[in-house]
Amino acid sequence: MAAIRLEQVTKAFGAVTAVDDVSLEIADGEFLVLVGPSGCGKSTLLRMIAGLEDVTGGEVWIGDREVTDFAPRSRDIAMVFQTYALYPHMTVRQNMGYGLKARRTPKPEIARRVAEVGELLGLTDLLERRPAQLSGGQRQRVAMGRAIVRQPQAFLLDEPLSNLDAKLRVGMRASLAQLHQRLGVTTVYVTHDQTEAMTLGQRVAVMRDGRILQCDRPQVLYRHPNNLFIAAFIGSPAMNLVAGTVEGNGVRFGQYLVPVATPPALEHVVVGIRPESFEDAAFAPGMPTIRARVEVLEELGSDAHVFFQVEAPPMTAEVLETASEEGLLPTDRALFTARVDARTSARVGAELDLAVDPASFHFFDPDSGARLDTSAAPVLAAR
Ligand code: ATP
Repeated sequence: MAAIRLEQVTKAFGAVTAVDDVSLEIADGEFLVLVGPSGCGKSTLLRMIAGLEDVTGGEVWIGDREVTDFAPRSRDIAMVFQTYALYPHMTVRQNMGYGLKARRTPKPEIARRVAEVGELLGLTDLLERRPAQLSGGQRQRVAMGRAIVRQPQAFLLDEPLSNLDAKLRVGMRASLAQLHQRLGVTTVYVTHDQTEAMTLGQRVAVMRDGRILQCDRPQVLYRHPNNLFIAAFIGSPAMNLVAGTVEGNGVRFGQYLVPVATPPALEHVVVGIRPESFEDAAFAPGMPTIRARVEVLEELGSDAHVFFQVEAPPMTAEVLETASEEGLLPTDRALFTARVDARTSARVGAELDLAVDPASFHFFDPDSGARLDTSAAPVLAAR
């Protein structure tokens, strides 16, 4: 096991900068997730750690060795990909032991480790089967097993669950977490799925356009997203983001004015409210309320999602960037989601009083997208 350190690593493919000046330290034994939308550079960054991609600039360290120019096989890491290429003509036992055999490990040692890891992954009864005789989940476990038997310094996993169906993914996710608890091997895990990132990562690095925007524990990303992009990316259903103005000790967004204990120090802001910061007022007495007209109702059994209109422009990072390129702000209305108690009396087309917790509001600067710190005493600055 070893820590991994990236120092100002950059990777350019011609004019495209896939990874842009990234510095990151992954502690010995840590489970770190790289997450972000398609094309943000997460696979390239992982492949740079593995040595499958050379770097344009910067240094890669594994443990106390600088490995920037080392070939992949000299880095002592194991990778598992989305497409787990098992050898079709070999049994599970042979597939799992192949890497050790290639490294001339003594046969009894190979047999011992394959048996041990087979047991750990629940593959003992499948060791004599060939890949074609296995389910997708079982094949993925064999691919993991093949990586584990090598006892590498670190595991690098690139979307290892994305070929599995939804139910299997949830099961495998739990197995992966358990496995990490037992083995404690430094792990870097790439995914575009924020739920996977939040449930697996001890820390999660959110990437966009080749850069890491924020790297923190899941709870910190959820409670203190440091910019608009992360606010919208983390959490499901996504945070509602809308244009707002500070008016005295309250914040206005569209038709609503809600009192806020410490409003931000800017007049024009982006207001962020998570769906779970709302509740049907019948189940949250004593909170400030707003009256919503229910556009859509989704009853999920455990809770319900109420959709309603706010008469102010939606303000996601994407909307703002397009708007600033075109020199105008969007004029449409925002469609908000509220997550409420399943016993709600909400009906489509009818009005509903929603309680809302102003202490949970997030505020962002509409120009930079940066989080506004509201812990300081409010100073109202006109723009
Ligand atoms: P995905 O989830 O879609 O795999 P990603 O976040 O892993 O996306 P990368 O595969 O790392 O993204 O790609 C980052 C950027 O680098 C993209 O713009 C991609 O088109 C570009 N890129 C990646 N590999 C190459 C290559 N071999 N040649 C040219 N451009 C590349």
